[in-house]
Order: sequence, then C-alpha cells, then structure tokens
Amino acid sequence: MRVLRLGLPSGGVERVARVTRRATCQCGQLAIECEGDPVRISVCHCLDCQRRSGSSFAAQARFLIERVTITGEARHWTRFGDEGGQGDMYFCPTCGSNVFYKLPAQPDLVAVAVGAFADPTFPQPDYSVYEGRKHAWVEIVGEGIDRYD
Ligand SMILES: [Zn+2]
Ligand SMILES: [Zn+2]
Repeated sequence: MRVLRLGLPSGGVERVARVTRRATCQCGQLAIECEGDPVRISVCHCLDCQRRSGSSFAAQARFLIERVTITGEARHWTRFGDEGGQGDMYFCPTCGSNVFYKLPAQPDLVAVAVGAFADPTFPQPDYSVYEGRKHAWVEIVGEGIDRYD
C-alpha cells in the first residue's frame, strides 16, 4: 500500500495520510469514496464483464469495504458466473452507470469500476483474467501482470 508521510512544520510530529479517491456514476448522484490504495486491480475480458461495462473489457479495483463510503441511490442486479459464482452489480438508477460490485464470496471487499474514477493516472492492473475471451486487438501491457485464461 502506498502511504504518504506528511511532516508537520511544528516539527517532530508525523501523521500518515492515505490517498482518497472518488468514483461516481455519469450523472454524479451515486458516489463511492475509497480510502487507501486498492488491494487488487484487475481487468476482465469475460463476456459478462463486457456486457456489464459496455466495453470490450472491464477494469475494476477492489477496496476494503470498511474503507469505502457510498452516497446516493444504487440499485443492484445479481448475476451468476460460468462457475456459479454470485456477483451483485450496483448501478445508478438515473443514468445507468455501473459503479461497483460485491461478491458474496469476498464480503470484506468491494470492486469499483476503474472508469468511474475518471482518472487516467489510476494505477495499472496487476491481473488480467479470461484472456481466452480477449478481443484480438486488446493488449494489457506492463510488468508483472498475472494472466489467466
Ligand atoms: Zn447516475
Ligand atoms: Zn468478468
């Protein structure tokens, strides 16, 4: 985890400040504020995530649920993956943006759609999954990415 150390001018005393990032839907009424760095950043090429995101692949960052604050109205829809895993997909009922999801198998985490941060400097993914369903023109580049078919 990246931690910023801020020295105070009065000297000697140091406090630790964590990065806080805010993701929102397109209309802005649904927001999730995330304190600290994500515990995992992944892209998923599965067909369900293509439909969820409306894009040719989805990127999401998982945060500890105790470090996020959700404001606004969200609705959710429950999907079951190929292997039976359940996912609760939360979206804005006004603009329809998919903002985050929860996996009952990982109750301490929430996965936030990276695009909802609207931050091109957001850290890059560590994992690229379902590469077997990746569009031929997509390439996830970077050092040390764990790849799964
Ligand atoms: Zn919205
Ligand atoms: Zn997926």
